[in-house]
Amino acid sequence: MKGLMMERQLLVIDILKHANRNFPNVEIVSETVEGGRHRYTYSDAYRRTAKLSNALQRLGAKTGDRVGTLAWNGYRHFELYYATAGTGTVIHTINPRLFPEQLIYVINHAEDRWLFLETSFVEAAEKLAPHLPTIEGFVILCDREHMPETSLPNAMCYEDLLAIEEEEYSWAELDEKTACGLCYTSGTTGNPKGVLYSNRGVVLHTMASGAPDAIHYSLQDVVMPVVPMFHVNAWGSPHASPMFGAKLVLPGPKMLDGKTLQALINEEGVTISLGVPTIWTALMNYVKENGGDLKPMNRSIIGGSACPPALMKSFRDYGVRVRHAWGMSETTPLGVLNTPKPEFASWPLEEQQRMDEKTGHGFFGIEMKIVDGDDTELPWDGVQFGALKVRGPWVCNDYFKLDGASDAHDADGWFSTGDVATIDEYGFMQITDRTKDVIKSGGEWISSIELENIAVSYPGVAEAASIAMEHTKWGERPLLVVRKSEGVAIDKRALIDFYQGKVANWWIPDAVEFIEEVPHTATGKVSKLKLREHFSNYEWPAGTDPKRE
Ligand code: ADP
Repeated sequence: MKGLMMERQLLVIDILKHANRNFPNVEIVSETVEGGRHRYTYSDAYRRTAKLSNALQRLGAKTGDRVGTLAWNGYRHFELYYATAGTGTVIHTINPRLFPEQLIYVINHAEDRWLFLETSFVEAAEKLAPHLPTIEGFVILCDREHMPETSLPNAMCYEDLLAIEEEEYSWAELDEKTACGLCYTSGTTGNPKGVLYSNRGVVLHTMASGAPDAIHYSLQDVVMPVVPMFHVNAWGSPHASPMFGAKLVLPGPKMLDGKTLQALINEEGVTISLGVPTIWTALMNYVKENGGDLKPMNRSIIGGSACPPALMKSFRDYGVRVRHAWGMSETTPLGVLNTPKPEFASWPLEEQQRMDEKTGHGFFGIEMKIVDGDDTELPWDGVQFGALKVRGPWVCNDYFKLDGASDAHDADGWFSTGDVATIDEYGFMQITDRTKDVIKSGGEWISSIELENIAVSYPGVAEAASIAMEHTKWGERPLLVVRKSEGVAIDKRALIDFYQGKVANWWIPDAVEFIEEVPHTATGKVSKLKLREHFSNYEWPAGTDPKRE
């Protein structure tokens, strides 16, 4: 028997309609490329989104068309999120940090019809334009006054496009399975793969992320995503803020500028921030050097790569609680979040902090499991490592235009994340590695993340990565690569000794090497691939590999 409930579709545009109705005066504040802070309300955003929807229609956009963006976190990008979803077109957010050949690949693969871009990316786009046959026009995100001279074919000014349009748009009742966003994963091997989000997946993800033991967005909050809107929907914050009535603060091109971030936090009253560890290390260094505080902020959602305990402590010292989170482009992205269970409250502080450092527990909507090499499920005992698989309504089912050619899904519909994890008896998952980064010493696995977390708590270590190096006796052994803080001397032996008692003896790195600059991927993570290339001819120091004896 069918239930007698309405079958209203779950649509992204309805989030903005809801904000316009219920929170019309709540603000969106943006740092702009032109300079200065722009502010307006959800009601203003709603009206301009209607104009943009009309403009897309005037350009000839049809359901399913891809609209590329090369843009920072700002109000115009926000309008593009909603106008595309509302018109049944698909926003393809592009990471401007990709190499030119990768940019060309993703734009052509997505067959974007238009590219909306910041003035600061015009020069780069001019070089790409001859290689982008599907692009019919370039829309520059500025007003007439800031419109640059450009050789881009069919260059249009965003504000001019909007100026002539009506503030009303009758958004169609789309099927909730309609695609609304496209984001390519960086693809450390092979070409980037496109993850195609649906209205339904995004709305469910947004609803789930608001729960008290997830991110807990509320009317009282001021949310600042320092994770880019060009990568995995800024972890859903541009959807969740209007859904739950939170003020949204968008740092524009100033994502790596500690001074601006601190000013935004204090002047706009930011209570929740979201970002990867590298961004926060930059902010904390700035605050420590220049003084001041982060008073309004009470929690920082950190994910994208493991948050070192040392960074959590820095935040704690400023009264900010770090909430560790895990996810990936393929999971829209939230998969697990770390909020303490009530029974932890009576534990010694150190134990509680150890739980905080884990990656997080599941929340409704994402099922997870860990499996061994034979795909047999492993117990949740906090000890056994296994390949992490997930399943849920906001987990990708396939990649764009790959038609099942990737082997990421098994027959039961579980998605292989490519991560290795433990899950403990409390349901707290901990990522120990990516499958391809795990160090296999004598057939046993060593967690590179755990080694790195210990290294960055050593005085003078600015950044650390541990990588597997070939070893005659053990197959692979961990090499620790360190970038030192400026002007600091580190004794390699003392750093190795620092591991004593912190991990099993056989986990301790055999050698330390210093490096001037640690290579990063386009999403700001340490590129282990490049590091391994850098050390491809590495010879272990005398005494550490029998080959040399
Ligand atoms: P990429 O950066 O490779 O394009 P994603 O942004 O989708 O892809 O990154 C997802 C990956 O980031 C995860 O599979 C995992 O390896 C890593 N990751 C995300 N959050 C965490 C975390 N809290 N701890 C450790 N690793 C994480």
